[in-house]
Amino acid sequence: MKISIIGTGYVGLPTGVGFAELGNEVTCIDRDIRKIEALKEGKITLYEEGLEDLFHKNVRSGNLKFTTSMKEGIPDADLVIIAVGTPPHPVTKEADMKYIHAAATELAEHLSGYTVIATKSTVPVGTGDDIETLISKKNPFADFDVISLPEFLREGFAVHDFFYPDRIIVGAEKERAFNLIKELYLPFADKTNMLFVKRRSAETIKYASNAFLAIKIHYINEMADFCEASGADITEVAKGMGLDSRIGNKFLNPGPGYGGSCFPKDTMAMSYMARQNGVKMSLVDAAIIGNQLRKEQMAQRIRNAVKGIENPKIAVLGLAFKNGTDDCRESPAIEIINKLLEYGLNITAYDPKAMGTACNIFGNKISYADDMYQVIKDADVLAILTEWEEFKNLDLERASYLMKHKNIVDCRNLLDAKKAKAHGYSYRGIGR
Ligand code: NAD
Repeated sequence: MKISIIGTGYVGLPTGVGFAELGNEVTCIDRDIRKIEALKEGKITLYEEGLEDLFHKNVRSGNLKFTTSMKEGIPDADLVIIAVGTPPHPVTKEADMKYIHAAATELAEHLSGYTVIATKSTVPVGTGDDIETLISKKNPFADFDVISLPEFLREGFAVHDFFYPDRIIVGAEKERAFNLIKELYLPFADKTNMLFVKRRSAETIKYASNAFLAIKIHYINEMADFCEASGADITEVAKGMGLDSRIGNKFLNPGPGYGGSCFPKDTMAMSYMARQNGVKMSLVDAAIIGNQLRKEQMAQRIRNAVKGIENPKIAVLGLAFKNGTDDCRESPAIEIINKLLEYGLNITAYDPKAMGTACNIFGNKISYADDMYQVIKDADVLAILTEWEEFKNLDLERASYLMKHKNIVDCRNLLDAKKAKAHGYSYRGIGR
């Protein structure tokens, strides 16, 4: 199948590479000239485990091409996938649709023959109708269907999740659009759940899922606060809860709050959509407020750990919003560091993959280290903010010689509390 993907970000690029690997002819279109130039030169523009090898393989085979031109990328396509950003509107916090509307308008005049236009971006309910209207106005003779094909990949596992999705949700109003998508996903027919629903239902499923997960994180964080106050241990509590199949054992890790390019913006967009429809979503609203407070709470906790120390040095392990990615969008680590900077504290940071992204955010406001031992040298406290596997292996003995004060605030519960205490550290985890 000939597929064009508009937007080569964290969703568009792995999706393009994945469909190319399955034997489709894929053209990735992006308006960012520098990104497309880099990709054309064979330089991958983001980090995702396993993506780079597949990218090179499919560029070499000719299945994967890049362009900035809709004129070049759209006419031959059987399927056009829109994967542009839908960031929060600066004022209302609803999903800002300017990139979606621009993409739909720009592609319209180049449609040729029957084409299915699938929205993979997370978009408010009714966007499919809007795209349909926009395209018909711009190109009244175009033969097309607009469908919703929400994306559920997890950053850090994008390649895995492309080939082994939990589910594929397709929202369409026309049989022939469903048929094209069935053909596209034929290689997945026996290995995953495919659900064909109304377009508006598919658009809602994405927001309903993300809001639910955000609420689950907020809930376990509140439960962690309760455990701290009551003397229980959240790790044991979460384990016990997770054995109930109705609850499940995922997303029960307390931490510094949820972040990333999805949960924060999608919860705000869900809340806005609900208000527009005259519905109050008190749980979603509570998660939004609680999550904001959470990051402030964590910054306070780190500040308290160095109270009374003159000109303390804070060592931060982890900048990305989660492990496995270089993405720092809405990362709790970034917000916590900003708060610590407001307090006038000195910060040195290290992340295995997100140093470049972090340099663009902080410039010379903080210092950077090359590894996890360099970062803790002469530190008065170590704050662990991202759950990278390698941080679990921190050699506590070696660290104890490097740090000025043996002080750890572990916002991800990565380290063994008993071991840390046995090594003489003042250790504070979450909810235990
Ligand atoms: P991103 O910012 O990484 O990438 C978006 C890309 O679209 C950018 O490269 C940008 O230059 C390009 N673009 C914008 N307007 C364009 C236009 N008119 N023509 C061509 N290119 C254009 O965004 P992302 O993280 O890939 O997210 C994309 C969408 O997918 C969002 O709606 C997001 O909510 C949703 N989503 C993201 C994830 C995730 O984990 N990142 C997961 C599921 C769904």
